This record gives sequence, structure tokens and C-alpha cells, in this order.
Amino acid sequence: MTIEEEVSKTLAELGVTEAPAVEALFAEVRAAMDSERQELVSRGAASSTEREKTAKALRDRWLGRKNGLLAHIDEKWLKPSSRELKPIVGRKFNELRQTSAQLEMEALIRDVPVRAKVNSSDPGSKDASFASTGQALSTATGTVAVTTKDSVAVEVTTAAADLTLPGYRRRLGSIHPITRVQREIEDIFLGLGYSIETGPEVETAYYNFDALNIPATHPARDDMDSLYVDAETVLRTHTSPVQIRALRKHGAPLYILAPGRVYRRDNPDASHSPMFHQIEGLAVDADITFADLKGTLDFFCRKFFGEKVRTSFHPTYFPFTEPSGEVSISCFVCDGAGSDAVGRSCRTCKASGWIEVMGCGMIHPDVLGHGGVDPERYSGWAFGLGIDRFAMVKYDIHDIQLFFQSDMRFLEQF
Ligand SMILES: [Zn+2]
Repeated sequence: MTIEEEVSKTLAELGVTEAPAVEALFAEVRAAMDSERQELVSRGAASSTEREKTAKALRDRWLGRKNGLLAHIDEKWLKPSSRELKPIVGRKFNELRQTSAQLEMEALIRDVPVRAKVNSSDPGSKDASFASTGQALSTATGTVAVTTKDSVAVEVTTAAADLTLPGYRRRLGSIHPITRVQREIEDIFLGLGYSIETGPEVETAYYNFDALNIPATHPARDDMDSLYVDAETVLRTHTSPVQIRALRKHGAPLYILAPGRVYRRDNPDASHSPMFHQIEGLAVDADITFADLKGTLDFFCRKFFGEKVRTSFHPTYFPFTEPSGEVSISCFVCDGAGSDAVGRSCRTCKASGWIEVMGCGMIHPDVLGHGGVDPERYSGWAFGLGIDRFAMVKYDIHDIQLFFQSDMRFLEQF
């Protein structure tokens, strides 16, 4: 039987004839009243308008002059009650009426919270509702209205907010594999006393080509290979122009590392990207020889790929170094064997046992001259490597595009 049904019957119709039954009946009503109120308080309201509406509905349901539940109890239980029961019914009804004061609008509006609502600066509301710049704090289960000088009105709920709950955790990112590898390489050379140098990505053709002994007729200058801004300006195709800029800026002796983005006119595929990353290394000093180059790069490769790794140097040609070499390392997966213990061929080194990792050479005397350094007095060596390629080799990644697609499933593995 619902409360409504109960209060529409007299005590006699309900079969209530003794004091304990009266007390039980009123206890039931009291419990219903409390739970309806508590339900509203813990639910709260989305706005003060909604709070007013729901509070009024609850108030009218119980305290409405004509149709409220209390009016029915007065009419059906108290007035027609027997002489024996009247005192106890009267006393219980009075208690209920006193308790029902908590259903008055004022008390409900005080206790029902408006859920964390922020009114960003509405100049009207400042004067209308929060005239003072102080704080209005009602009860511990009520709402706190805070106004600040820039008229931001914040209503913070204190009723159902459990202050011991943990906060929202922001998802942490991770360091991009390119950045990770770049820093690893930088750390190794910083430990050897090198410093980091940077240069512009939009470079003049002079610094990108001419100063590096790449004549106007060289195929690398073709606009099929390079991305030109205009006839004299190009997106740098390598980090080597930083060599010239740094030599002109600091002179010799010089030990630098120049990391950065470079651009080529390549179609994106698994091993090509129109933008990728290089690191250029440079050592210029008196009496620098090819032995310094070999010793330093051997040390670097062992630091980066593992102490077991052996290096191998092969002659090649670059316009800006003489002699020039390519560096290969023994495969760190199969240890140079080209296959694993059961004879499966190694895919990291494509079964060759060796992985080509970078180009290097003794800096061409003309290039030193372009950098303003006397080639009679100083010599130097340089190397250049692809950071993307290093990362691909190190982490066994077979598609360079993965670095640039911002796919969390890929990136969060690092
Ligand atoms: Zn291998």
C-alpha cells in the first residue's frame, strides 16, 4: 500500500486499533518523508531553477494545504480517530508536523545542492545575486557561493561531494622515438665534449650546396630532389650547412653536433619521407686524422648499439669530404652471422650480417675554407646519420611513416 493509499483510509479502515500500531504507522510515514527528502538532497539539481521546481513539488506533496499528505492524515487519521486513540494520534501527528518543517521551501533550497556550476563573468549576476565580494557559506550540507573580483560566480556543491575521492588522472604521454634516439645520440657526444648547434631549416642555396662543394650542375640540386622556396632558397636537404655556419660563427677548434629536420622531394613510402631527421657531427682541430674519425665513430656505435658491435668502414664519395666513407656495424641481432641459431635468416640485417648506418669523411679543404678556417692549419672530420633510420634499426620498425602518423597504439610503446 502506498502512502497515498494509506492516508486516504481511516485508522479503523486500516485495522489500527492500538497505540503500538499507531506508532508503527507514523514511523512508516516519517521514514517515507525522510527518504524522499534525502533522495532530493543527494540528487541535487542542475540549476537553481530546477532546484526551486523540484523542492516545490516535494513541499506541496507533503504540506499542500488541501491535498498534501499531512492534510490527509489530519482529515482521515486524527479527526475521526476513536477516543482511546486520539491522544496518541494527536501527539504523533504533532511530532510529524514539527519534523515536516524540513520540507519548507527555505530549508530545501538551503540543503539541495546545485551541481558544480560555473557562471563565467556575467556582469549582471554580480550585482543581482552576489552584491558583496565576500563568501556566503550556508550549512555543511548546503552550497557555497563564492564571488571574486572579476565577477566570476561559482557555486560549489558540498553536499554529496566526497572530498576523499581521487582526482581525474590525466593520461601521460611518452617521449617520441625520434626524440628519444636524438637525445641518446646527443648524450653520447656531449659526454665526449661536443656541443649542440642548430641552423635554419629554410636555407640559402649557397649554404646548402655551394659552400659544401656541391656545384650548380650536381644532380642533388635538381628541383626533382630538392624543395625550393625560390631560385636561391631551399628547404635544407641535409644538416651539413650547419657545418659552415658554425665554423664561421665559432672558428676552429670546433666539436659540434647538429641535429634537425631535413627535406627531400621524396614520395612517402615505408622507407622514404619528404621530411626526416639527421644529425651531423663535426670535429675540427689541429692534427685531426682519419684515426680520430674511426675511433670516435667506433666508440659511438658501441655505446649506441651495444658493446658487442663491430664497425666496418668502406670508401665512398661525398662532395664535401675527402676521403669519404660509409660506416656499417655488425648486426646486433644476429651478431653478424646473418641468421639465428636454427638457420632462419635475420631480417634486421637482411641476412648480410652488417647494417649500414652512416656516412663520414675528412672535411674537404675547400669546405673548411668556405667556413673561414685555414685548411693548412686545421683539419677535421664529419659524419651524418638519419635519426629516423637509427630509430628504425634500433627498435626494429619497418615503416618510417609510423613516426609521423601520431597513432597512440604505436607511440605508447616507447
Ligand atoms: Zn642480423
